[in-house]
Amino acid sequence: MGIKVAKFGGSSVADCIQLAKLKSIVESDEERKYIVVSAPGKRFDGDNKITDLLYLCKTHIEHNLPYDQLFQVVTDRYRAVELNLGIDADLVKHFEGIKKRLTENPSADYLASRGEYLNAVLIAAYLGYDFVDTESLIKFDSNGKLLMEETDKALGEELAKHAAAVLPGFYGSTPDGKVKTFSRGGSDITGSLVARAVKAKVYENWTDVSGFLMADPRIVHKPKQIRSISYMELRELSYVGAGVLHEDAIYPARLANIPINIRNTNEPLDEGTMITSLEEVVRDESQGVITGIAGSKDFTVVALYKNMMSSERGFVRRILGILDDYNIDFEHIPSGIDTVSVVMANSQLEGRLEEVIEEFRSRLRPDSIDVIGNIALIATVGHRMASRRGTSATLFNALAEAGVNIRMIDQGSSEMNIIVGVENKDFEKAIDAIYKAFVKYEESYEEVNNYQ
Ligand code: ASP
Repeated sequence: MGIKVAKFGGSSVADCIQLAKLKSIVESDEERKYIVVSAPGKRFDGDNKITDLLYLCKTHIEHNLPYDQLFQVVTDRYRAVELNLGIDADLVKHFEGIKKRLTENPSADYLASRGEYLNAVLIAAYLGYDFVDTESLIKFDSNGKLLMEETDKALGEELAKHAAAVLPGFYGSTPDGKVKTFSRGGSDITGSLVARAVKAKVYENWTDVSGFLMADPRIVHKPKQIRSISYMELRELSYVGAGVLHEDAIYPARLANIPINIRNTNEPLDEGTMITSLEEVVRDESQGVITGIAGSKDFTVVALYKNMMSSERGFVRRILGILDDYNIDFEHIPSGIDTVSVVMANSQLEGRLEEVIEEFRSRLRPDSIDVIGNIALIATVGHRMASRRGTSATLFNALAEAGVNIRMIDQGSSEMNIIVGVENKDFEKAIDAIYKAFVKYEESYEEVNNYQ
């Protein structure tokens, strides 16, 4: 028998109804031994997440404003669940401990972490599992950087003593014993670390969607679900805006070759999306040539032209130096023989475009500089693209037929993605056209294969 680690996100633990679903999911598979939980999220539109309320408490404390009522809203939510589920998790005792700390101006990280802490205490009692606090097990250095190996060891040793346990997500501590949280959404990372530490056969991430869709459903009508995606493909897709899972959650699981299964607490029979190694994805014959399409708007392309640029050593290095001086992250640097373009998110430029261009002009002495603003980037991603004929033709024809002007093309050397830059106004139209073209491509590919 293997071990499964199941992490439940905020919406999956928001109230009694969701917790009842969690319990039936956990109990339906005895391999689900280690459960990682977020703090209760929103129960309905306009509701508050517990984590947000706790951060707000901290702001009140800092400004010497009364916080009692606010904290009462937090405790009432847990208490109502405890009473409704008819369990005794001794929460009142825990509330008292936290209230005492509130008078000592605790750190924002400590306060925010109590959302996960209280929830794990409650859910452990509900499931009859041990409660294992992650505070001393998830280790950060004094600069707040996660210590992966130390954490792996500490978690592994502790969990070996518990046949089944519930752990709070989101936080650990620094060497001086202070609570330290991950960035928002970080319970995903805790789940991945726990999965690695117990050598789980799968890391299930239970949320409120049935995995990933091939494209944004606000743009494409009923896009197909992605059944399996490689860690690398997901990086490419989340990088351009498709984030469901915290970015840093992939690494620990990937290191131990543990697949991550995104599942829907509200549709537990749906198999969701499996995030696996490249080999597994390639083996899955049921998947089409592309895995997904994602993108985002608001980039600027600065194109530099210089005669004989190719023989001028250090040109690109100097571009990178300037970006470094301005602390600007770039997205892509597509190049030609005498041209180099730099693609940057507008949010990186922060109104410094003129200054940066001036710097390019004086330090690089290009023959000309073109600036193309309002660019959207769209990544079409799929490992199988490299081995099938006609994939790039399908993509570019689709855009031409939809009347979309392509302003930039970039293809990773792995041939796993093709990135196109289009004008912001064409963004939705382009994604829809690419998606539809590949649905057709797939249909005709199947027809040919069936015929042969
Ligand atoms: N509760 C934290 C947040 O809202 C962490 C998490 O849910 O993953 O960001």
